[in-house]
Amino acid sequence: MYPAAMRNTPPPQRERIFFGYVATVCVVAVVITALALPDLQHHIGRSMDVYWVLAGFAVIGDARPVTTPGGRSSMMVFPSICFTFAILLMWGFAAAVVVQTAAVIVSSTQLRHRLWRAAFNASQYAVSFGAASLVLKMSSGQPFAPGGEPGWVDVIVAVAAASVWFVVNYALVTAAVGLRFGGSWWQIMRRSIAFDALTTGSLLLLAPVLVGAERASAALIPLIIVPLIAVNRMARLATEQDRVAKTDPLTALANRTALMSEVADQAAVCTQRAATDGNDHHFALLVLDIDRFKYVNDALGHEVGDRLLVEIGRRLERAVGDENLVARLGGDEFAVVAPAIETLSDARDIAGRISVILSVPVVLDGLSLDVGGSIGIAMYPAHGGDFATLMRHADVAMYDAKMRGDAVAVYAPEADHNSPARLSLLADLRGALVTPESTEVAFYYQPQVEMASGEVVGVEALLRWHHPEHGLIDPEELIRVAEHSGVMRLLTLRVIDDVIAQLAKWRANGLTLRASINVSVRDLHTGEIVDRLADRLAHHQIAPEQLQLEITEGALMADPRRVLTTLQRLDKVGIALSLDDFGTGYSSMQHLRRLPLAEVKIDRSFVLGMVNDSDDEAIVRSIIELAGALGLRVVAEGVEDDRTRRLLLAAGCHVAQGWFYARPMPADELVGWLGRYRPPQQLDWPVAG
Ligand code: C2E
Ligand code: CA
Ligand code: CA
Repeated sequence: MYPAAMRNTPPPQRERIFFGYVATVCVVAVVITALALPDLQHHIGRSMDVYWVLAGFAVIGDARPVTTPGGRSSMMVFPSICFTFAILLMWGFAAAVVVQTAAVIVSSTQLRHRLWRAAFNASQYAVSFGAASLVLKMSSGQPFAPGGEPGWVDVIVAVAAASVWFVVNYALVTAAVGLRFGGSWWQIMRRSIAFDALTTGSLLLLAPVLVGAERASAALIPLIIVPLIAVNRMARLATEQDRVAKTDPLTALANRTALMSEVADQAAVCTQRAATDGNDHHFALLVLDIDRFKYVNDALGHEVGDRLLVEIGRRLERAVGDENLVARLGGDEFAVVAPAIETLSDARDIAGRISVILSVPVVLDGLSLDVGGSIGIAMYPAHGGDFATLMRHADVAMYDAKMRGDAVAVYAPEADHNSPARLSLLADLRGALVTPESTEVAFYYQPQVEMASGEVVGVEALLRWHHPEHGLIDPEELIRVAEHSGVMRLLTLRVIDDVIAQLAKWRANGLTLRASINVSVRDLHTGEIVDRLADRLAHHQIAPEQLQLEITEGALMADPRRVLTTLQRLDKVGIALSLDDFGTGYSSMQHLRRLPLAEVKIDRSFVLGMVNDSDDEAIVRSIIELAGALGLRVVAEGVEDDRTRRLLLAAGCHVAQGWFYARPMPADELVGWLGRYRPPQQLDWPVAG
């Protein structure tokens, strides 16, 4: 047996040690063989015909070696050892080594092994045979030699010799794997020792039986083939079983189980290397989620979805290369373990290669499918020391990438919605929301102005939370945290209650305004929000037209089908819908047309830049045109100066919101502000670009 599969390439220093080891084993083998060769003639003199039969079987037997289950350091079992061990028993060390070397030459040629590897394998066997032959010397004379009569003691000595052979051989291979790939030798050894002991042990112990059979008649030798086939078959079945247990049936990639053991292996390798050279060693776990896969599956059927996954799997393997392991976690989630990296930027490079290869549309049945995906990266050991932690953190990063509309994100503890700081913040927010007398949570209102007339037509309600210890909490950050928790629901119910009650208060002061509230797309997964809105509107007798919901484009477009029912119900109730942060996600024309939308809000990043950046200005202009063509109202937010206002007005924008008019303010201040408000001077001459 010797190492079968080899993946990542070792660094130069370890390579030198490894080849030094290989050379040493070879030299030892050559020396002991050279010393024993003179005896060869003397031993083989007897029963030459049987010797040739056994030698023939040994060489032919290695034509189909079996790889044992053991992952990266799996071993190979060669049936030849049954015959060569019998030769050892009958004719001694030199005779066995000659035949074994011939068998290794045949199998190495067939398996296209490098020269050094073939030399190591031949030498490793020679050393094992040398050790076994020392044990055999304990018997008096040569009881197994042709004409000898082995007794009980001799058989026990033979079993001891076989055991020594196995131990020496196993140790030599384990040392080779350990030196080449690093990692704990104990782990390497443990991986398949039971299996190897059984298969190799059966082969070795068949040898004395073979000798006994020959004693009766050389014609019995071929009968040994049947048990050998059985051993071979058993080994193959075990290997196949192991392969199936670690393979994703659809894509033939590694599955979660295989990924788990690869991560454990790599962690052990890093620990071992760190212990040897005192440096930190890293590897990366990348988790990838395919964008819009659900559409393909829903619209084109599972069969097409499956083929898409297979193609993506193929592309991933091509993108990351042999040294990295690609696994499918299930659904449209994939993962990559990248062991051969030294820095985070290496991991980013791999993620970048994946993004590039995913950006090429997949053509299935003449249909061109745009896939793309979001990738999260977690590094060992900085972001986790075990599979579960690394997985969770890579997942958090991936989700973060998705939310931000980026292709790649590296795990950052701040982005972890489960970090202790976040959990305690969430608990505080929950406390504030469920305590009716708490004034920590409030809503500020920012006016929205109709551009043509300069009149205030509405307000947007914006969350403000004054934390008793941390002060004012950034709402954007807070929403990102809350969105993944049950607190979001409480917050949304609170917005609805507060804002509708506020509309009633303003009405009592003679003020009728439209208020926009922000909701998370998750709020729309159930119909609860519609019931609550309808209930509160009826309670305060506010017209549904006075309320509007804002949903961010990225979140809505990620899965519009899921919220369609709720959106249609809202539409029926008469509550309008606004697509917030427009331009930052990707909306298809189809969705813009099919969803019951009343307005789009151009993302403030474009508006803020439009005065100085002609690209931003072009984007704003085309959004206004597009929305106009679809019959949607366009609101520009982030209007900070008069120049921007004029540009927007000239471009035909309907409504503007921003610091140029007013910052978000408490509800009580709004009435006073409205009293002081004077519409800006209207545009009566053309504005130069
Ligand atoms: P958004 O919905 O895009 O809200 C507009 C943001 O732009 C507000 O930030 C507002 O203060 C800011 N803004 C308004 N005019 C200007 C301007 O002229 N210049 C600049 N630079 N910024 C301006 P804010 O209040 O920090 O809110 C941030 C985000 O938090 C909101 O973005 C919204 O996504 C979320 N959010 C706020 N309140 C709620 C809420 O009650 N529920 C939900 N689900 N999300 C909320
Ligand atoms: Ca908004
Ligand atoms: Ca916005």
